[in-house]
Amino acid sequence: MKVTLKNLTKEFPSRNKKQPKPVVAVNDFTLEIENGMLIALLGPSGCGKSTTLNLLSGLQKPTGGEIYFGDDDVTNLPPENRGVGLVFQNYALYPHLTVKQNITFPLENRRGKDKLTKAEMSEMATEVARLVQIDELLDRKPSELSGGQQQRVAIARALVKQPRVLLLDEPLSNLDARLRLQTREEIRRIQRSTGITTVFVTHDQEEAMSISDMIVVMKEGVLQQKGRPQEVYDDPCNLFVAKFLGTPPVNVFDGEIKGGKLYIGNEAVMSFDAPDGAVDVAIRPEGFTLEGEGCFTCSLDRVEVMGRDISVVADHSASQNEVIRAIVDSDNLDTLKGDKVVFGLKPNKVYVFNKTTGERI
Ligand code: ADP
Ligand code: MG
Repeated sequence: MKVTLKNLTKEFPSRNKKQPKPVVAVNDFTLEIENGMLIALLGPSGCGKSTTLNLLSGLQKPTGGEIYFGDDDVTNLPPENRGVGLVFQNYALYPHLTVKQNITFPLENRRGKDKLTKAEMSEMATEVARLVQIDELLDRKPSELSGGQQQRVAIARALVKQPRVLLLDEPLSNLDARLRLQTREEIRRIQRSTGITTVFVTHDQEEAMSISDMIVVMKEGVLQQKGRPQEVYDDPCNLFVAKFLGTPPVNVFDGEIKGGKLYIGNEAVMSFDAPDGAVDVAIRPEGFTLEGEGCFTCSLDRVEVMGRDISVVADHSASQNEVIRAIVDSDNLDTLKGDKVVFGLKPNKVYVFNKTTGERI
C-alpha cells in the first residue's frame, strides 16, 4: 500500500501562559512512501516522530494536510477503519490472557460478515505466531516471556489483522542491547516476507540505517532529508543531518573559504569553489588518511587499535567536537609517533556548511 502524507501539520495548544504560541509538533510534512517499503522516521526526542505516526494511525487528527493510503483519503477515518497495525515501545499485552488470546484479541469483536469462528481465529494466530517465531509459546502468559518475546507477541497482534500499513513506535527501546539487534533483524525479515508498507520510528540512527529502505530525518517537526540510508549519510543536506548520522560522529571544525580554498586554522586543506567567508566543516571519521602527503595538522592524543582499523584520537584548535576521531587502516600504525599527526583528507567525506543557516554549500 502506497502511503502519502501531504502538507501534514499538527499543532498543540500551548499550556504555557507566558508563551501562548502553539507547539507545532509536525510542520508541513510531505512524504510519499512506496508500496512495500520499510521507512524509518528518525530524529531526536521531541521532534514529532510519534505525532506523525499517530496521525497516520488516526489516533490524532491533523490541524492541516491530508493522508492517503493508495488513492483513499483516510485523513478523517477513525483508526479502526484504516487497516493499520500498531506496535509501541511498551508492549501493552493483557497480562491475564495467554499469548494466543492476546494475538486473537483484535479479531474477537468482528461482527456481521467479518465475524470469525474460533477455529479461524486460532489458525490465523498460529500463522502469525509462526511468522514471528513464537508458535511454541502460545499457551503462556505474558509474565512468562522475555522482553523480546513479549515484543514479538505485540508484533503478531498487529499483524493478525493483515494491516495495510504497519506502524512501529520505538519498538526496540525496552530491549537490552543484544535483543535489540536480534529483534531489529527479525522485524526486517518479517517486513520483507509480508511486504507490508511499514513506518518505523526511532531516535537511534544506527537502528534506522541498518534496517530501512529509506530514512526520513526530522527536526522540530520539519522533514530535513529523506533517502536511502547510505545516500543520506554520504550526502547530508545540512549540518544537523551530518551530525545526527554516523558513529563515531562526524568531526566539525570552524573553517573559512578564501580565494577558492578551504582553510581550517591556517592550513588550506582543499580547493573549494565558493564565496569567501566563515563556514562549518564536517569531516567523517573515515575521511582522514595517512597515505601520501598530508594537509591538515592536528595534535595527536592517542591511538586505539580496533583490529583491521585504528582510531586516531586527535585535537585541533578549530575543532568544535571534544576530540577528533579518525578511522584509518592499521597498516599506518607505524607512522603515528610523536605529538603531531598530519592527515590527508578524502574530498567526498568533507562537507562544508553555511555558518548561519547550516545548509550545505
Ligand atoms: P517524538 O516522538 O519525536 O519524541 P512527539 O511527537 O512525541 O516527539 O512530540 C513532538 C512535540 O509535540 C513535542 O514538543 C511534544 O512536547 C509535543 N506534544 C506531543 N504530544 C502533545 C500533546 N498531546 N499536547 C501538547 N504537546 C504535545
Ligand atoms: Mg516518540
